[in-house]
Amino acid sequence: MAEQRVEPVVQFALLEDLLNLARANSLWPMTFGIACCAIEMMAAGAARFDLDRFGAGVFRPSPRQSDVMIVAGTVARKMAPTIRRLWDQMPDPKWCIAMGNCAISGGPFQYEGQYAIVPGVDLIVPVDIYVPGCPPRPEGLIQGFLALEDKITKGEKRNIIRRFTRKEGRV
Ligand code: SF4
Repeated sequence: MAEQRVEPVVQFALLEDLLNLARANSLWPMTFGIACCAIEMMAAGAARFDLDRFGAGVFRPSPRQSDVMIVAGTVARKMAPTIRRLWDQMPDPKWCIAMGNCAISGGPFQYEGQYAIVPGVDLIVPVDIYVPGCPPRPEGLIQGFLALEDKITKGEKRNIIRRFTRKEGRV
């Protein structure tokens, strides 16, 4: 009888689910941009689009305080070790968004025989969400954040680093 009275008021949940819900709604991206897509990322954080509405507007100046890396721009092979080091300095749990065609696959530079560009940042760090476009608009990045929040809330597994093909060569 007592259980029947309490049931509509008290809800039980797994601690991990509650932690995931909290994590999903308080994402702190790293202040980090490497090419033109970063301008759209900055616009997403500014007043017009206000990424803060989705709990992801507190851009941190240090990887040690960040839990989302937005790779916004062209990844040069020379830059690859630095990106990996920044990723390693971020505490777990952490997530990565590849923003724009350059970060996803090397973008327009891949078709010009460019040897200096990494053909996808998922060769360096595990990417959770891909936001296509050249550049994607701020709404695209916001959509990416919503997809990431959904993924974290559901406790979905992380992506893994893609394997190099012979053509891509090692970074
Ligand atoms: S995807 Fe387009 S806009 Fe973004 S960094 Fe590459 S060239 Fe620039």
